[in-house]
Amino acid sequence: MIELAAHIKAIVAEEGPISVERYIEIALTHPEHGYYMNRDPFGAAGDFTTAPEISQMFGELIGLWSAEVWNAMGKPDPVRLIELGPGRGTLMSDALRAARIVPEFRAAIDVTLVEVSQTLAEIQHETLLTAGAPISWAASLSEAPEGPAIIIANEFLDALPVRQYVRSHNRWRERVVWVDKSGQLGFAPGRQPEPFIQAPGEEGDILEVNPSAHRLVYELAGRVARQGGIALFVDYGHGVTSIGDTLQAVRGHRIVNPLAEPGECDITAHVDFAAMARSARAAGAAVYGPIDQGDFLQEIGIDTRTRALGERTPDRAQEFEEARKRLVGKDIGEMGALFKAMVVANRSLPVPPGFDAGAGR
Ligand code: SAH
Repeated sequence: MIELAAHIKAIVAEEGPISVERYIEIALTHPEHGYYMNRDPFGAAGDFTTAPEISQMFGELIGLWSAEVWNAMGKPDPVRLIELGPGRGTLMSDALRAARIVPEFRAAIDVTLVEVSQTLAEIQHETLLTAGAPISWAASLSEAPEGPAIIIANEFLDALPVRQYVRSHNRWRERVVWVDKSGQLGFAPGRQPEPFIQAPGEEGDILEVNPSAHRLVYELAGRVARQGGIALFVDYGHGVTSIGDTLQAVRGHRIVNPLAEPGECDITAHVDFAAMARSARAAGAAVYGPIDQGDFLQEIGIDTRTRALGERTPDRAQEFEEARKRLVGKDIGEMGALFKAMVVANRSLPVPPGFDAGAGR
């Protein structure tokens, strides 16, 4: 942490204030000291917990969802099963196990894990040693093998660096990170106005865009439009583009100042699903959702799965029920409404499973 904060201050001293976007990129993915690069951030002992880490049901249901989608795609063999930002590899491990009930699909699967962190790639390797499917790693989507694909991304887009603009002195200016008089990293409006931004705004308003996420979704949508396939994004965020600062840093399950400990905390921002949908459509793909994660999981059978697992292992029935509630519930502290699911698909495919109830479309 000392190294990374000092490193960022040195950059500011040399080049002047840096954009929020660049700050986040360094804090998360600096090759040596970036947050994701040298740790396992997940779980009770880590900084945050994700849906696949809450319950095996999440990955299992996505595995079964993938099998159904593969049928609708005309059963391509091989099919690229690509996961973006696979964390510990838990989702993929659960998905592959569940997919065994469709042996034809299971046999056609060729897995690619897109991961920037060598440390996490090693953990994924260990998790998936006995998965029994061919697995390779890629540093970006563009390096993944071509062909019809099923692409899964849970809590991936929120980790891509957001760019912010702040309304200051009647102009929009890019929000930057500088070093204040006390020697601490601080936020400030950039000097240069950005007249290309058209939004109405009041003094102090903040506008976010996520160029990396746009580029990724545009590339991915072009891929599924040309080569066939479908992508499922699950993330926290909003369905309608709006003004506001959603930058959030988390350490040890607590909210912290995103500038205080670069490299030591996870930094994320809400996913603007409406903006992502625009990029996907512009690249020629169809978009379904976003719908609430809770509705999606119920549509694809989490209640049945919870009961079946509870009957098979009665001493764990309560644990499965609690996990189900946390994943689909819509109260504070539950994920069902906070998280959304959105699909980007080749236009020739039918409405994907989970989205045909019409909710939120
Ligand atoms: N999907 C997992 C992990 C989510 S955390 C889960 O649900 O548990 C975000 C993941 O994306 C981590 O694996 C992180 O290392 C990876 N990641 C972050 N930025 C990335 C980038 N630019 N390219 C590839 N992977 C990235």
